[in-house]
Amino acid sequence: MTRFVDVANMVRWTASVGPERIIAGMIPYLEADFRRWEYFDKSSRVASHTPFGVIELMPTSDSETYGFKYVNGHPSNPQRGFQTVTAFGMLADVSNGYPTFLTEMTVLTAFRTAATSAMVGKKLARVGSSRMAMIGAGSQAEFQALAFRSALGIERLTVWDTDAAAMEKLVRNLGPLGFDITVATSAADAVRGADVVTTCTADKANATILTAEMVEPGMHINAIGGDCPGKTELDPAILERSAVFVEFPEQTRIEGEIQQMPADFPVTEFWQVLDGTAPGRASEEQVTVFDSVGFAIEDFSAMRFVRDAVEGTNFGEDIDLVASPDDPKDLFGLVGAFAPVGP
Ligand code: NAD
Repeated sequence: MTRFVDVANMVRWTASVGPERIIAGMIPYLEADFRRWEYFDKSSRVASHTPFGVIELMPTSDSETYGFKYVNGHPSNPQRGFQTVTAFGMLADVSNGYPTFLTEMTVLTAFRTAATSAMVGKKLARVGSSRMAMIGAGSQAEFQALAFRSALGIERLTVWDTDAAAMEKLVRNLGPLGFDITVATSAADAVRGADVVTTCTADKANATILTAEMVEPGMHINAIGGDCPGKTELDPAILERSAVFVEFPEQTRIEGEIQQMPADFPVTEFWQVLDGTAPGRASEEQVTVFDSVGFAIEDFSAMRFVRDAVEGTNFGEDIDLVASPDDPKDLFGLVGAFAPVGP
């Protein structure tokens, strides 16, 4: 049997545990897996691009457990009543190849992206950071805000989105949770004086959500929206004057902000900052950029966390995903009984 967490159970589990506690619990799983980065099978995700958007498969394995996520990215979806990003994922036992855990990942991807941003922000943002600018108030936004409060204690937000209704939604969702939120009049207005800037917009374009003039010394930029060829958010001049941190460089050079830079543009792999083999922030004035695209190991960690957290609870169910004949060579025996007899 395969353990399955569907959307209803993911929502019930989130309501019972609380989103901030989920993020807080997920970060140690992410950190543990980033610290054993070298033990994982790693490859850039397999992307199928169309004029509508992209569908991607994201596999990895640590020699005991294999995992993959199916995810799409369709920036024009909300105009048609669909979400930009949806996903599901699976873990399997490497020793026999059987799937052990299957889960919805539309909600879980928002948690894992936010928890990853917070893990990185904890290391790279200036100590004492207290205000975050959020450019883009769509599906990911509230999760990002909760993650930065959970990991860095940031409660003051300034938000900007080209869609006023999205900003209203963010205020409606986060205001009651105790955030101090200012609705800005432009991206420049939002960013002014912020310690952390999160960009989570969706547009299949080389957009300039942030220009170099908006960036102040010491800011940490958590750039999550540029995650596809031809889809970026930052003015390249920002990257030139910043220390840039990435997940898996081979994938980020294709999909991230640094696709705009020469192939040998210097970046630091974040796992090395975590394990102490590469420096993080060098000074109070340095601008740091997390050029996030989302990597398979993060989904692996998120699924491990949920699998462990729901074990022995009623937030999951067993589903009959793998045909299991009594004789492992007699698969036909399972179906043959139903074959019509005679002509
Ligand atoms: P969404 O469509 O729900 O929200 C995007 C928001 O950006 C919308 O409210 C839109 O109005 C706003 N926007 C677009 N252009 C803008 C601009 N120029 N200035 C200000 N606001 C603008 O999408 P989402 O699910 O929140 O995802 C946001 C982005 O994050 C997407 O591009 C998605 O692909 C990406 N993403 C990245 C990761 C990662 O791991 N790095 C994970 C999930 C999603």
